[in-house]
Amino acid sequence: MTVIIDGKAEAANVIEAVKTATAQLKTTKGLMPGIAVVIVGEDPASQVYVASKGKKAQECGFHSVQHTLADTTSQEDLLSLVDTLNNDPSIHGILVQLPLPGHIEEGEVLQAIDPDKDVDGFHVINAGKLTTGIGTAFVPCTAAGSMLLIERIRGKDFSGLNAVVIGRSNIVGKPVASLLLAANATVTIAHSRTADLPALCRTADILVAAVGRPEMVKGDWVKPGATVIDVGINRIPAPERGEGKSRLVGDVAFAQCAEIAGAISPVPGGVGPMTIALLMANTLVSAYRSAGQVPPTF
Ligand code: NAD
Repeated sequence: MTVIIDGKAEAANVIEAVKTATAQLKTTKGLMPGIAVVIVGEDPASQVYVASKGKKAQECGFHSVQHTLADTTSQEDLLSLVDTLNNDPSIHGILVQLPLPGHIEEGEVLQAIDPDKDVDGFHVINAGKLTTGIGTAFVPCTAAGSMLLIERIRGKDFSGLNAVVIGRSNIVGKPVASLLLAANATVTIAHSRTADLPALCRTADILVAAVGRPEMVKGDWVKPGATVIDVGINRIPAPERGEGKSRLVGDVAFAQCAEIAGAISPVPGGVGPMTIALLMANTLVSAYRSAGQVPPTF
């Protein structure tokens, strides 16, 4: 029987652990984890993401602030806000919602965030810590969430297992590959220039799809018994639901692949809820570190 990985339930477990540890930090150190979310412009999808992050932070018992800036905000003003947040002791996690308007140099803004408050894990110091294994990195939340789901199925040591990650972004593909490698998997990163992707995927005991192409991974790409993690979020037309309606699908053709896989994460309800839960976990960890306390592990 194929296991359908319940990302909602796993995320709820992470959030419960965050709530408990937050209460402990308040009792023992009088410290409340603080998160600042910065959004520039009025992209509707970004507004929804930011609102749900703020809501989840409040649910966890965090101090949560949102800075909403006009899409005409200059790079200089945005950098100045990041600097203020870097120096604000009540803030332990800073998140600048992407994408930023075209006139802003995204890389420069992300690299201006204090690496100790970089709960998205996008700073080169955190990326470097993750790939080298030196120090403790903040791991990008979607990658960390995907890894937790894989661990629930496969344990923590992937010695002898082949892993294929489709997608080489800094946000998902590369950090997932680093985590799998650190857990002793033999890892291949595939991308848009990879030859014979279906044959490569058939070698994977662990297959992670982070592409952004609706239902690209077909049933005959999947090795029998494989663990399949679908990171993709794609909105496609759904005329069967009525005129102009749409629905979300992943990068994996779910029904076909579920027949072959040993375990598979659905979209929605798989990796998505884990991402926000791991953002809360990273912020909590940052607050613990700032208080000189050993943070919980997730
Ligand atoms: P990206 O566009 O930065 O990277 C996509 C990667 O896919 C690239 O490395 C590219 O080489 C590869 N690719 C493109 N076409 C390909 C093809 N035909 N064959 C093989 N590889 C191909 O995207 P991203 O930010 O890494 O996000 C990937 C997907 O994950 C998107 O659908 C995104 O919405 C989703 N996502 C979900 C979450 C979540 O919380 N669940 C978070 C981040 C991203």
